[in-house]
Amino acid sequence: MYSNLLPRFLKYVKTETRSNPMSTTTPSTQTQVAFAHELAKELTDLGMQDVYYNEENGFVTATLPSNTDKEVRSIGFIAHMDTADFNAVNVNPQIVENYDGHSTIQLDKDGKYTLNTVDFPNLKNYAGQTLITTDGTTLLGADDKSGIAEIMTAMEILIKNPDIKHGKIRVAFGPDEEIGVGADKFDAKGFDVDFAYTMDGGPVGELQFETFNAAQADLTFHGKNVHPGTAKDTMINAIQMAIDFQNEFPQEEVPEHTEGYEGFYHLHGFTGTPEEAQMSYIIRDHDREKFEARKQFIVDLVAKFNAKYDQERVELNLFDQYYNMREVIEKDMSIVELAKNAMEELAIVPVIEPVRGGTDGSKISYLGIPTPNIFAGGENMHGRFEFVSLQAMQKATDVIVKIAELNAK
Ligand SMILES: [Zn+2]
Repeated sequence: MYSNLLPRFLKYVKTETRSNPMSTTTPSTQTQVAFAHELAKELTDLGMQDVYYNEENGFVTATLPSNTDKEVRSIGFIAHMDTADFNAVNVNPQIVENYDGHSTIQLDKDGKYTLNTVDFPNLKNYAGQTLITTDGTTLLGADDKSGIAEIMTAMEILIKNPDIKHGKIRVAFGPDEEIGVGADKFDAKGFDVDFAYTMDGGPVGELQFETFNAAQADLTFHGKNVHPGTAKDTMINAIQMAIDFQNEFPQEEVPEHTEGYEGFYHLHGFTGTPEEAQMSYIIRDHDREKFEARKQFIVDLVAKFNAKYDQERVELNLFDQYYNMREVIEKDMSIVELAKNAMEELAIVPVIEPVRGGTDGSKISYLGIPTPNIFAGGENMHGRFEFVSLQAMQKATDVIVKIAELNAK
């Protein structure tokens, strides 16, 4: 059943598709365009219909028609093609068969980088499984090539086993998730499903329908620079203004001191001269009211600073990035229940926790298609210690097939 899953996954990870935040094109890199065309060909070869690469938004989509007379809701499965901000050239996956659950795995030739249970206790969950790791020089790209391989394999299983009855299924593989823009141009109307799931991220069982609300605040501080020897009562040092500004924030409400449902302000950029300084914050909170209050805090602080000086010396560019998908999904929890039931029928314990981040599903949900996230199996994502187990990818594939099946019952 899964014989093509591993070869498929290995082929995908060896195809370089890193996204580029500085790019102004869609997709951000041409390697993603090439990969999209490869996936389109594979979908066609599998027997999927309406295979289409949309040049405007970089998404490949395809349809598996319903094979039941029943009226059932249509489902989408979505994964992203790009990989994170880490070396992805010449990915050289290593396969560790029947891992014993405690040994140290050497990644590079010199043994400089290892997977060991002291740094990565999660390895202990994989006794008896086949692990796919990096060679220490690149990331693996299981985020999210595992999601693509799982969706592709699940479609293959459904096509080869017509006795499994299902409604209309649509698949979509999109660009630039890691740089936070891929889903912005997604054609939700054209995708035309009742609901969808992203197959992305973490270990077996993850089922997520809550994300942060997210905004960014970019600030520019304009100083007044004069010769330091004659600066008394005249100089306004932009760097000092920025430091004073930062010091007004609640010091505990930062990523390094928060967890669970606790929101934060995160200063993630700071450059400056006495003449001009720039700061950039991201603002995160699961709760919409608290999120709005956090943004207001910054607006008020800017006003307070500007009132202190001879002229407007602080400029603010504040914008929302995405919203907690819970607001959309809560209206019809049956789609979370469907995924939960599918996992339970497969003896997978659902792990339902809020994401301290966003997903493509956050944006797609607000485009009108409720889209929770389901595990794709990856561990230690976005770096050289990334790995995934073959058995985890098989389970994710099973979940897709089971969702399709239960939806038609
Ligand atoms: Zn991902």
